[in-house]
Amino acid sequence: MEVEGCHFQFRIALLGDAAVGKTSLLLRYVAGAPGIREPELEPEVAPTVGVEFYSRALQLRDGLRVKLQLWDTAGHERFRCITRSFYRHMVGALLVFDVTNRESFEHIRDWHQEVMATQGPDKAVFLLVGHKSDLQSSRCVSAQEAEELATSLGMAFVETSARNNSNVDLAFDTLTSAIQQAL
Ligand code: GDP
Ligand code: MG
Repeated sequence: MEVEGCHFQFRIALLGDAAVGKTSLLLRYVAGAPGIREPELEPEVAPTVGVEFYSRALQLRDGLRVKLQLWDTAGHERFRCITRSFYRHMVGALLVFDVTNRESFEHIRDWHQEVMATQGPDKAVFLLVGHKSDLQSSRCVSAQEAEELATSLGMAFVETSARNNSNVDLAFDTLTSAIQQAL
């Protein structure tokens, strides 16, 4: 489907506990857009689910253009507070934890389960994101155990920092490529 000069539209959600850094990661990505289109930093709001989203156009490797619709779960992070309609048509999700917050890592399986339980036949593509990688001295989740979790759930793992702007584009590019391959 053609969307504003784009060949595809991908609806992607950022999921994970409150305060892991989802909004910061999203804003870093949207604000850092290399100008296919000026980023719009005022979120759009889907009134039916009350969830904010941002859009960014992206050129895929083969020249196809995709519009990413990036859904933030602002204030809806309490488990099971997100309505099923939120997950409808969602093609991908970043499952975000904070590398300095053990509990947020342990909740990743719950977030994954929640999406899997509410999905239709078209399964979403996931990426595990260990965020706040700049805080190495207080980290309490190792890259190795995060890798192991990602492998057991069948997804890739990327460590990011919005503060250092580390791997932010890589995280979204990795997920977008995986979605494209799953089409
Ligand atoms: P959300 O609730 O998951 O959307 O998290 P926020 O984006 O609101 O961030 C929660 C807190 O973590 C804020 O104080 C942010 O400044 C902080 N934060 C977000 N990203 C990073 C990061 O990459 N590194 C560090 N050190 N702090 C971050
Ligand atoms: Mg937020």
